[in-house]
Amino acid sequence: MDYQFYDTYSNTKKLFTPLDPSNVRMYVCGPTVYDYAHVGNARPVVIFDVVYRMLQLKYGQDHVCYVRNITDVDDKIIEASNSLNEDISTLTERTTKYFHSDAEYVGALKPNFEPKATDHIAEMINIIEKLIEKDHAYEAKGNVLFAVNTFKQYGKLSGKTLEDLIAGSRVEVVDYKKNPADFILWKPAKENEPGWDSPWGKGRPGWHIECSAMSEKYLGQTFDIHGGGQDLTFPHHENEIAQSECCNDKKFANFWMHNGFLSIEGEKMSKSLGNFITINELKDKFQGEVIRFNMLLTHYRQPLNWTEKSLQESKKILDKWYKLLGTAEQPLASAKELISEIMLKALADDVNTPQAIAELHQLYKAAIGGNQKALDTFYNSCKFLGLFNSTSHEWSTRQNKAVKIDENLINELILKRNTARSGKDFPEADRIRDELLNMGVILEDKDNQTTWKLK
Ligand SMILES: [Zn+2]
Repeated sequence: MDYQFYDTYSNTKKLFTPLDPSNVRMYVCGPTVYDYAHVGNARPVVIFDVVYRMLQLKYGQDHVCYVRNITDVDDKIIEASNSLNEDISTLTERTTKYFHSDAEYVGALKPNFEPKATDHIAEMINIIEKLIEKDHAYEAKGNVLFAVNTFKQYGKLSGKTLEDLIAGSRVEVVDYKKNPADFILWKPAKENEPGWDSPWGKGRPGWHIECSAMSEKYLGQTFDIHGGGQDLTFPHHENEIAQSECCNDKKFANFWMHNGFLSIEGEKMSKSLGNFITINELKDKFQGEVIRFNMLLTHYRQPLNWTEKSLQESKKILDKWYKLLGTAEQPLASAKELISEIMLKALADDVNTPQAIAELHQLYKAAIGGNQKALDTFYNSCKFLGLFNSTSHEWSTRQNKAVKIDENLINELILKRNTARSGKDFPEADRIRDELLNMGVILEDKDNQTTWKLK
């Protein structure tokens, strides 16, 4: 079955033909790790997980390479580290674990590679040096900037001209830039900021160069699909294209796939509106599959309106589906040949998940009427979409595998344990340590300080 994906770069739905069917390559921009992921962050995690599963089905599990990076150096991280008074690497390691726990919660498969930006500084410096050599970049006051007017196609992905960008003042105007739209490849590290030695002094990379370097290292100079949220189109992806194509004189990615925005109860999600929802806090009320299913009800390119009502409805549907699973004679046959062709056809048409789910409803109806073949197809199709990861019993008793992280509770327990220890009540201290361990939290005592991490 042929796949068609909508390519943002050409603004058309195109037939997907990989460069090399024995090594199909996809890069998706991952999180900047300094806090819990919100539901908007989870949308690309779920959507590109479906794309990954589709690619694996068609080309074979061992013939798809999915890379999703971790941005662990960034202004926001430095800010958070200062305000929390927490070491940067402790903060990024801790919040990377949150991200992993959330991704697992919503049923996303692990990517093949998950490179961290700080492990690839040398590769970034290498690209920047090449760009300077080719006159696409210049040094100014310890910064290295990309000269946008050296790249004719700049703005093509986001459909903007240089004039639009400057007039819209979406670019930072500073005196050392040759053109106000030039963007940072490398910047000097201020005192107490993380920095690496480079030909331009101690500094750190700009955000965009991170993805150019990591995608090239794991996927090569040209690869099949580059994905991410629509909000990344400009400037992030536009700048990635400029850097990589000018450095290598080759097309960067053959397909650009972007998921649409997510709003909460019809409003833009923002901390100031107080409608910021993290995946971690949803764990109290909803199983991960409810979150996943609710996300897939909307086509990935459409704006998604996240509402409590829709989550409740998604939960009701899955409750009903799991009930059917519980009444079926176990174990059900499991085979990829049993996945619904109609559902796959819907997915093959630019990942049409609402259409795919409509087919699941049809299969459910047939299965509940006692049709065994429909039940097998229903089961395998749901599995393919990343559902039915629990047994019917686990589902009804809400035995979720992922751990809900309640920092306040953890800190409270650590405090109690320390009080017990200083009062020499060691049995109580040990009991609290075990209680935390049961929650998936491991304590470490060092230099009179107790830190914690997830199992
Ligand atoms: Zn990126």
